[in-house]
Amino acid sequence: DRVGIRRALLSVSDKTGLVELARELVRRDVELVSTGGTKKAISEAGLPVIDVADVTGFPEIMDGRVKTLHPSVHGGLLAVRDDPDHVAAMEANGIAPFDLVVINLYPFEQVVAAGSDYPTTIENIDIGGPAMVRASAKNHAYVTIVTDPADYDEVIAMLAENDGCSTLDRRKAFAARAFQRTASYDAMISAYMAEQLSLPPVARHHATGGTLSLEMRYGENPHQGAGLYLTGEKRPGVATAQLLQGKALSYNNINDTDAAYELVSEFDPATPSVAIIKHANPCGVATGATLAEAYRKALACDQTSAFGGIVALNGTLDAEAAVEIVKIFTEVIIAPAVTDEAAAIVAAKKNLRLLTAGALADPRAKGLLVRSVAGGFLKQERDNVVVDDLDLKCVTKRQPTETELADMKFAFRVAKHVKSNAIVYARDGATVGIGAGQMSRVDSARIAARKAEDAAQALGLAEPLTRGCVVASDAFFPFADGLLSAVEAGARAVIQPGGSMRDEEVIAAADEHGIAMVFTGVRHFRH
Ligand code: 5GP
Repeated sequence: DRVGIRRALLSVSDKTGLVELARELVRRDVELVSTGGTKKAISEAGLPVIDVADVTGFPEIMDGRVKTLHPSVHGGLLAVRDDPDHVAAMEANGIAPFDLVVINLYPFEQVVAAGSDYPTTIENIDIGGPAMVRASAKNHAYVTIVTDPADYDEVIAMLAENDGCSTLDRRKAFAARAFQRTASYDAMISAYMAEQLSLPPVARHHATGGTLSLEMRYGENPHQGAGLYLTGEKRPGVATAQLLQGKALSYNNINDTDAAYELVSEFDPATPSVAIIKHANPCGVATGATLAEAYRKALACDQTSAFGGIVALNGTLDAEAAVEIVKIFTEVIIAPAVTDEAAAIVAAKKNLRLLTAGALADPRAKGLLVRSVAGGFLKQERDNVVVDDLDLKCVTKRQPTETELADMKFAFRVAKHVKSNAIVYARDGATVGIGAGQMSRVDSARIAARKAEDAAQALGLAEPLTRGCVVASDAFFPFADGLLSAVEAGARAVIQPGGSMRDEEVIAAADEHGIAMVFTGVRHFRH
């Protein structure tokens, strides 16, 4: 199982940790072979290294497009060392085997992220690198393949623990990582090409690719393993945000923070807005004159549920808002940016995770959503419909007032981010009752009303905030009962997609109670 490491091939774009690794290999009398830039870096550190051109007898040609694609290299990577025919072929052609191969690929993803032009991006598709990675990984019976500078310490430790040898267990583990790397590399290239051709997101291959960015201690529950993968898409959000402080993010944190940030990004950055999320559903959303005011209004909607929640803000987290947020136990705060003063206030809560996303997400952006089903996975385009772009139709005798209309749009914006069946009561740019995830729409309406009563009690108010509110429904009311339940709770205006067989019945019930109702024509199911 053990293979002595005598000869290594190094060809890396990212030179991080290269010299330290090379020095350790030289100390162990390993012969080093390298390509142009890598060789230069090793030589400059005063270490002996052979040019790959001296191995192939061929110069690097065509701007480096062809440097290692040669039988002298690939024969050394692929030879089966206890096969007499392979050994004879090595001898006849003067091929020496490689025991260790260290490669990282042209930085295709960084080049795309930097917004490089098409020819530059295409030139950064590594050809020889993946060929060597795959050859070495296939031949892991003998060859150790390392594709990530983060793994160099593991190589050094393996050699230290095994008298300068590799072990089969380690070689297999490295080979699996290597194939994951080449698979995600190609997935990223194909996604880039699809984007260039404006193919719909469902035709892209992000779901099969992705680069592991965070391995978590567990998933939704402690007995489930989990990881976060990056698709390379340029979409501001939790996956690419910077964690400024606090414990590592858990699976549930990431899922909830995504829901929070996608929701708060729906609001005009000129209007300070805050969303508080629990279990992927909002338990309070509000706008205000300041982020602090918006937070207080959002919190008032459901103080009980907000405990241990995720807070997302649509503007730079300032000191005034930070002071408010740290008053109760919060798991995560995410904002486009944070002031130094606010960061210092948050720092007092050691475990509280603070994320900055750099920018808000674009609610109109196209994107791909993926969900697994047994034996497969579903892909769909992101729900990028924004209520401001819709042609709202008033279907009742009474027209909504301007204030009602503003609150209706606010409520429908929130309802898009509430699990179906979603009912959202809103007033003065704040949610006052949210009913989520029920199997019947009437139940969602009742739960939202009950939550509003609880909130009024907690705030010491004489009557629930739903008196005179508006209500949004993510999908049409199939019967008048859901609408009547909302009216009973105090709703005076309704926004919903419309399109039920019984629309007439629902409109008649609204007219009977002097309700103003608008149809959006667009549904926002979220399951
Ligand atoms: P260096 O900086 O050593 O000149 O180049 C290292 C990079 O070249 C690595 O990222 C490696 O994957 C890549 N590479 C090695 N051989 C070939 C080849 O034959 N063709 C291409 N296109 N890239 C190669």
